[in-house]
Amino acid sequence: MGQFAVIGLGRFGSAASLELMRLGHSVIGVDINAKIVNQIADQLTLAAVADATDEHALKDLNITACDAALVAMGESLEASILCVLLLKSMDIKEIWVKATSKPHHTILSRIGVSRIIHPEEEMGMKVAQSLSYPMVNQYMSIGHSLYVVEIKITEKCQGISIAELLKEVKDSIDPLLVRRKKTIFKRIEPSFTLEMDDSLVLAGSLNALKTIAPRLA
Ligand code: ADP
Repeated sequence: MGQFAVIGLGRFGSAASLELMRLGHSVIGVDINAKIVNQIADQLTLAAVADATDEHALKDLNITACDAALVAMGESLEASILCVLLLKSMDIKEIWVKATSKPHHTILSRIGVSRIIHPEEEMGMKVAQSLSYPMVNQYMSIGHSLYVVEIKITEKCQGISIAELLKEVKDSIDPLLVRRKKTIFKRIEPSFTLEMDDSLVLAGSLNALKTIAPRLA
């Protein structure tokens, strides 16, 4: 399992570090605020009160041994950038950073961090998409306007077959699987009949998925 450093344990950093722990990784959490560190200390591999812009403090914590670091000091542009520069000088390859403003994003992309995260914007877009397609439980963009989506089957389309559901888009959408309670059905035939509360996973183009949306909700 991996070893991660999470720097800045506000709402975002603490949620990310707890999830990394839950996934079985080891996490070194760092925050300048002792109260915040004390609240989470017993749930992380190591939690330390330190200024993340202090090179010696980071080295003492053995951050150099981490596979990846997540810098989540969104509110403090200066601290975030200084810390990223330190992590880069320690040769940490995978550096993900939470950004809060356009200038912050520009500087981070110039200094070559692996991934810049905008949680509010990214979440806002997801929520808007979920609001407009409430039957879509989860989705993942796989590029070139292609998506994998998980759809909850409601009353409206229970009892219809996959062939019927996908009739005019069968060449642009592939049914991947259906989960019915604890059973997974793979290699779905066109004659497969959907039942209420099934989870249907489809892969296809955004346009084709939009075509069948009115049939689902
Ligand atoms: P959120 O919106 O996720 O709560 P914040 O940007 O408010 O995020 O949280 C940033 C966290 O980073 C705070 O807990 C703050 O104490 C911490 N922080 C700010 N500056 C430093 C620093 N120089 N070194 C370590 N931690 C810092």
